[in-house]
Amino acid sequence: MTNAANLAPEHFEAFALAGQAVFTLVGKQTRFTYKICKAPADPKYPPTWFVKVLNGPNNETDYQFVGTLRRNPNGIGGTYKHFQKSPISENASSVQAFKWTWQRVVNQEERDLKILEIWHAGKCSKCGHPLTDPESIASGLGPICRAKVEDITFSEIL
Ligand SMILES: [Zn+2]
Repeated sequence: MTNAANLAPEHFEAFALAGQAVFTLVGKQTRFTYKICKAPADPKYPPTWFVKVLNGPNNETDYQFVGTLRRNPNGIGGTYKHFQKSPISENASSVQAFKWTWQRVVNQEERDLKILEIWHAGKCSKCGHPLTDPESIASGLGPICRAKVEDITFSEIL
């Protein structure tokens, strides 16, 4: 966890959708780690991301797929849909914590999370490169990837 850092909520959407985001939601009593990967482009569907939850001791491989994120038809925000066959139920605390955070930060643009923090592990969520400068650590994206991600809309990412 070199350069692990608390991610400012206003950076969460761009960070989370950059392609290979890994982050931990840290509450007072508990924490959960997630990976959000961009799905291969498919013209039949809107841009889609896979949400996975760390569910074992190996923090490289023990991720369990729990659901998908898709951009809302109006182009604003995004909707989480739980994968009903996932061994992790939609009622699990890990899924509830993610849904709550996503809904609050992205769909309601409520920047003050109050009860939890979003931490990343010091790697760019688009290319995986270690982050070093303060602005990159604050946003979870390196300078080159940040320039690519910041000014494009959800549908243009794919
Ligand atoms: Zn990068």
